Amino acid sequence: MKRSGFSKIGIQKIGTKKRGWIISLLMLLLLLVCSGCGSGDTVAAMELPTQAAEAVNVVIEDTAGAASPVAAETAQTAPIVEQERVQQVGKKQISIEYAAPLAYVLEYPSFADEKMDSLVLAFLEERKTAFAEKYDITDEKAKKWLSQKDCKSFLYLTYDSYLVEEDKICIVFHEKGEFIGTNKETEGIFTLHIDQLTGERLTEQALMKEGFLEAVSAYVIEYFTTEEPYKHHIFGDYETVLASTGGQFQRFALTDTGVLFYFDRYTVFPGSMGVVELRIPYEALAGLLNGAGAEAPPVVEEEPPAVTPMTPVEREIDPEKPMVALTFDDGPNPKHTGRILDILEQHKAVATFFDLGSLVDAYPETVQREAALGCEVASHSYSHKNFVQLTAAEIANDVHLTAAAFEKAVGFAPTLFRPPYGSTNDFVKANMPLAMVTWSVDTLDWKSKSPKAIMQVIRDEGDLDGKVILMHGIYETSATATEQLVPYLLERGYQLVTVSELLQYKHGIEPQSGSFYGYTYFR
Ligand code: ZN
Repeated sequence: MKRSGFSKIGIQKIGTKKRGWIISLLMLLLLLVCSGCGSGDTVAAMELPTQAAEAVNVVIEDTAGAASPVAAETAQTAPIVEQERVQQVGKKQISIEYAAPLAYVLEYPSFADEKMDSLVLAFLEERKTAFAEKYDITDEKAKKWLSQKDCKSFLYLTYDSYLVEEDKICIVFHEKGEFIGTNKETEGIFTLHIDQLTGERLTEQALMKEGFLEAVSAYVIEYFTTEEPYKHHIFGDYETVLASTGGQFQRFALTDTGVLFYFDRYTVFPGSMGVVELRIPYEALAGLLNGAGAEAPPVVEEEPPAVTPMTPVEREIDPEKPMVALTFDDGPNPKHTGRILDILEQHKAVATFFDLGSLVDAYPETVQREAALGCEVASHSYSHKNFVQLTAAEIANDVHLTAAAFEKAVGFAPTLFRPPYGSTNDFVKANMPLAMVTWSVDTLDWKSKSPKAIMQVIRDEGDLDGKVILMHGIYETSATATEQLVPYLLERGYQLVTVSELLQYKHGIEPQSGSFYGYTYFR
């Protein structure tokens, strides 16, 4: 029998996640353009039509190049680059349309297929019409703004797209509407499924089998009432809202790892949590989705790898003697982390590795070896996003995704978290269930790429007792520096310990979830 249905295999994620900064760029462009058309000044770089009925349509093909490597801690201004290598379905188009007082900034895929492209374009027209109707302005304040004939309302559409089973395309449009001059703002998520073979639109209704809504409802209620942080925030009559008849599950996306559901603000969570996403694995919905003539999809159970029983180096830590914690971020990298592990093993020493969940998924063997050598395996997030830019739900999702990656690789979830770029604030602290750790000695290894310079930073630091040294496990030069650094520290009588051991033996504490241990803590 032909393998069909919605098993995990053969499903690829093909979305790009550059939404944030692309929108920022486009907004900047629009602001530039529109700042000139209201005042009568000539600031604008482009001339805008002044007739409300007249429209200008600019379509740009996205020319974003190859992703650059993960930015290092201090490169805070660089766009955050996802670790995931994603395949694009279709060609990304960016359309900027001015039809004062409205403006549309639309990202969408085109497929060089008349039928499919017209489906997408018809969908965009639907969204534009709905937006224009929403902004049929009646209030006086708004009228005053609009009387200036400028672009005052903006509709932004971005998208993620997924190719499922080589014949279904799922496009998730994220919509944001803004009416400048009032506090009006709208947001929404809309999905479009296309059968690539027929070029026809697949409705969610047609994808659901009997029992689908009931199964989803049970899963969602169970998840939101037992998992952090949702269980503390779920509100209202959620049992009715999230019942199979509550109308919450008719919109979903088929993705690489499961069926993704969206819960708009205030549905069952406070608005501050943003749009909450929940991915239900295909296994949990086996047989309840219509595939290409599918019966219950063969569930391909991915056996978790047999975790090597840990036989860490027997070490005794003397709390009276000086100790230092070496830490390596941004890995695992099979080659360079591998070499660092060789050095540690050779010296019967340990370090703490703040690994990225996405790379743990990619290189589980390297993480298994870290654990097997008695090193501390900790989280540096799933894909190195800047956490101060995330919503509570996005933070929760990242923690969940990262924990799953570690659990699959080594059989446990990390308890320590080092925020990418060291970037954090009270909101992140309040929403992070893990203990947060930064560092007290920055070797700037990512910048100097010089073992000599790295060693100089260490020598200039003086007394290293109780310090946490930051390095990155993804550079050859950092591995070379480690080759010198480990014997250097041991010869000077320092015990090499993990971060948790340092907290335990130096400060007498267990790392507490939600606590922050930073620069001043490790001085
Ligand atoms: Zn990092």
